[in-house]
Amino acid sequence: MRIARNREELQAALSELTSVGFVPTMGALHAGHGALIDASVRENEFTLVSIFVNPTQFSPKEDLSRYPKPLEEDLALCEARGVNLVFLPTPEVLYPSEEVWVEVPNVSEGLEGASRPTHFRGVATVVAKLLLLVQPNQVYFGLKDLQQCAVVRQLVSGLFLPVSLRFIETVREPSGLALSSRNTYLSEDDRIGASQMHRSLQELAKEISASFNSQSELFSKYINVLSEFGFRVDYLELVDPTTMKPTSNLEGSRLVVAANFGGVRLIDNIPVLGEHNISS
Ligand code: AMP
Repeated sequence: MRIARNREELQAALSELTSVGFVPTMGALHAGHGALIDASVRENEFTLVSIFVNPTQFSPKEDLSRYPKPLEEDLALCEARGVNLVFLPTPEVLYPSEEVWVEVPNVSEGLEGASRPTHFRGVATVVAKLLLLVQPNQVYFGLKDLQQCAVVRQLVSGLFLPVSLRFIETVREPSGLALSSRNTYLSEDDRIGASQMHRSLQELAKEISASFNSQSELFSKYINVLSEFGFRVDYLELVDPTTMKPTSNLEGSRLVVAANFGGVRLIDNIPVLGEHNISS
């Protein structure tokens, strides 16, 4: 496995490759990232993982400085899963003095964008830079960050970027808690409590698809359920995963939730009707 730390090393390693799969990450890798890497290794001749804690997607009050950075473990996971190249840029490599922003309107607004107004501008900008540098055939993202998938889909189609998008379903702990690098901020007890989020989503999905009650009554009921379990709910909605706008149409739609639990902001989403495989 090779490592590239700047644009020149990256481009030297990428010249003459036929099929490149790319997995952009912020490190603190877990089995969720592992699933993206495995898919890329299966589907491409060459797999490149980037590890970059992107400062522009954090607001000043967020956790940039304490974001976990276990580089040795991350490199060992990449090596063990068959990654060919790890790109480890510094902020100066991706953000040299002349600055540019990439904005993706509409899908960036609401939900995560409402609580984190500059977050998706940072995501879209770094993803655009990385895609232009790496020029992969396929790029892999996790459906856990559903709105990020919608932003990337619009970015890629709006800029005519020649890459196929692959969206991979969320990997969970046996309790149902979605794996996340930020779970390390949770105490053992809070980790158990946090798994109630996924259980509540599953119960809500079951009730909505059986249409026992009106959808708005069900959302109020489950916001109360989650509050009683100690969650401070930011949003709980049924959305179209392409537009990220609320919908009452069940086919292809996903329940999305964000809540604060034990001082940590957690997000999750599931398809309302069984498992859906949404792709580009
Ligand atoms: P991050 O390092 O948090 O920026 O995540 C890098 C990529 O891994 C993103 O596309 C995430 O959506 C994806 N990812 C994070 N957690 C999971 C998970 N539990 N299952 C599947 N993919 C995930």
